[in-house]
Amino acid sequence: MTFDDLKLAPAILKAVHEQGYETPTPIQAQAIPAVLEGHDLLGGAQTGTGKTAAFTLPMLHKLAAGSSRTNKFGKDGIAALVLTPTRELAAQVEESIRTYGKYLKLTSTVIFGGVGMNPQISKLKAGVDILVATPGRLLDLQQQGFLDLSTVEMLVLDEADRMLDMGFLPDVKKILALVPKEKQSLLFSATFSDEIRELANNLLKNPQSIQV
Ligand code: AMP
Repeated sequence: MTFDDLKLAPAILKAVHEQGYETPTPIQAQAIPAVLEGHDLLGGAQTGTGKTAAFTLPMLHKLAAGSSRTNKFGKDGIAALVLTPTRELAAQVEESIRTYGKYLKLTSTVIFGGVGMNPQISKLKAGVDILVATPGRLLDLQQQGFLDLSTVEMLVLDEADRMLDMGFLPDVKKILALVPKEKQSLLFSATFSDEIRELANNLLKNPQSIQV
C-alpha cells in the first residue's frame, strides 16, 4: 500500500511526500481509512509507530472538506480537539498538524500549562479549527470563558494511559462533558487498564479496534 491509495486530498499527499514518507506504517494503513469512513477508533499503539499521522492526516482531510463553524464569539469554531498528557507531546502534535496541513487553509493552535495565558487567549479569540491541548490549561481557559467547545466534531485522546497516570482523569471527564455528544472520537493508548477501558466504553461508539 502507498499513501496514494489512501484517498487523502492531494494537498495533504503533497505535504506527506515532502516529508519523504513512502509507505504508511501499519497503524496508518488501518486507522486512516477507518477515520475517513467516520468510525470511532480505539488504537493500541506506542509512540514511534506513526500514530500522530494516523489521526492527523484523516482529521485534516475531513476538516478541509467540511464547512466552517461559527462559535459563540462569532469566530471559526473549534472543529477538532486533541488532548495530550504533556506539553511536549501537545507541541509535537500541533507541529505535525502544521506540517501535514501546510497546503490547507486550516488553523491550529496549542495550549498547555506552565506558560503565560495571554498569548493563548489571543489565539483562541482569533478563532481556530484545530486545538491541541493539555487538560488542565484547557479547563482553566474554559472556566474563564475563553473557550467554546460546542462546535467540536472530532475528539482525540492521545496517550490516554499517560493522561490517567498523571491524574488527568477528572479533568478529561469534565472536558468530555463540554463537547457535543455527537462527534467522532479516537482514543490512543499504549496500555489498557480497566480505567482506560471504562473511559473508552463511555466515549467511543462502535469503535474499530486497531492494535499495532
Ligand atoms: P509518531 O509515532 O507519530 O511519534 O511518529 C514517529 C516518527 O515517524 C515521526 O518522526 C514521524 O515523522 C515518522 N513517520 C510517521 N509516519 C511515517 C511514515 N509513513 N514513513 C516514515 N516515517 C514516518
